[in-house]
Amino acid sequence: MKKFFQPDALFSSFDKITPKYLSERGVRLLFTDVDNTLAPYELPEPDERVTAWLDSLKEAGITVVFLSNNHSDRLAIFNASLGLDAYSDCKKPFIGILKKIAKEKEIPLSACALLGDQIFTDIWAGKRLGILSLMVPPIKDKTTLFFRAKRRLERPVLKKFAKAHPDHIDLSFWKIKE
Ligand SMILES: [Mg+2]
Repeated sequence: MKKFFQPDALFSSFDKITPKYLSERGVRLLFTDVDNTLAPYELPEPDERVTAWLDSLKEAGITVVFLSNNHSDRLAIFNASLGLDAYSDCKKPFIGILKKIAKEKEIPLSACALLGDQIFTDIWAGKRLGILSLMVPPIKDKTTLFFRAKRRLERPVLKKFAKAHPDHIDLSFWKIKE
């Protein structure tokens, strides 16, 4: 069960994941979370960093699909200037929608990857599908009790990952050193 919660790699931010990194791993379709992965909750539209990163992926022939557990209005506004495939209310970690999208696009799961900021929704979904699962720290976390509790549950998983893959993680950034 534990392996479902282990990301395959941790990055300090989304744009550290380069087209080269993905292409070298045969990735042609990247599912990505939006909130706290690409933008904080309160930022309605993508900033220049997000746009530039998405452009670089497109140039490399990598299809990006937004997968959000948030509601459709949020995603529609964020995606208005981008025009990517975007799915709201995805209910990650359920994976039915991901399978359906990959099938529709005729891209095998072996050529898919997933990016997100939460272990128990994003990473769990990616690992259940058996695809490359990449994690970034939340850009700006909600401070509700529920979110703080969730983050506390993530810590031992991340610590374990850091121990097993010291070269795959910027420890100081993630602040999970012993
Ligand atoms: Mg998120």
